[in-house]
Amino acid sequence: MEITFAAKRAVVTGAGKGIGRATALALARGGAEVIAVTRTQADLDSLILECPSIKPLCVDLSDWDATDAALKDVGPVDLLVNNAARGMLQPFLEVTSDQFDEFFNINVKAALHVAQIVARGMKARGTGGSIVNVSSQASQRALKDHAVYCATKGALDMLTKVMALELGPYQIRVNCVNPTVVMTDMGRLAWSDPERAKTMTSRIPLGKFAELEDVVNSILFLLSDKSAMTNGAMLPVDEGGKVR
Ligand code: NDP
Repeated sequence: MEITFAAKRAVVTGAGKGIGRATALALARGGAEVIAVTRTQADLDSLILECPSIKPLCVDLSDWDATDAALKDVGPVDLLVNNAARGMLQPFLEVTSDQFDEFFNINVKAALHVAQIVARGMKARGTGGSIVNVSSQASQRALKDHAVYCATKGALDMLTKVMALELGPYQIRVNCVNPTVVMTDMGRLAWSDPERAKTMTSRIPLGKFAELEDVVNSILFLLSDKSAMTNGAMLPVDEGGKVR
């Protein structure tokens, strides 16, 4: 199955590191014009060195007004990957009000806001489009010390379904991917300890964590016309991690 993104314009959030960066590079290799959005300029500088065709956009997406200002001239967009998020380890009884707001702001509110900006343009142009929200297996499974993270991803799954419902009539599809652990910076934060990692891999029938390309390939499929009949779906990228 060949997937090409020639003549498509794509926005990828959280494109400085990890899954977002790999997705931006894969889309560029597939022929898309890519706008990479993240909040650390140094990451954008190194991304552009690696792939000069990518357009960098530096903004803290948890700031609503700054996001409006940064994206107001983004131009026509066909594809959006809402990937930026943060993870934290915190026992439920110690979660503070500020932490709750901070993580919901980037993991949920920013995804809604960027999608609003992009989808308004898609609707106005009548061209349709495809949006992929990067959720997690944590949206449906309780993980110790992940109360806020799990809650943000549960919210993102439901947001995906409502977006699919409301944007479908404009031929805008909205889906999400729900990966298991990938050893990015975020993955290492929670799962570097081998004992802790075993509690996760022992529940995964294939017995291992996902690789970056496993998640990227699923994102590309959902962005592409090869998934033209798929809308409002939560695609597990978890090697069957929910079957036991
Ligand atoms: P990383 O931490 O490696 O990368 C996250 C990227 O998002 C970074 O470039 C980061 O920039 C950016 N980002 C974070 N906050 C903001 C902000 N406020 N404004 C703009 N950009 C921001 O994470 P992963 O690649 O591992 O995760 C990507 C997605 O995949 C996330 O949605 C995550 O929840 C999901 N996921 C990850 C899994 C894993 O095990 N790794 C498993 C399942 C889902 P900076 O570094 O400057 O903060």
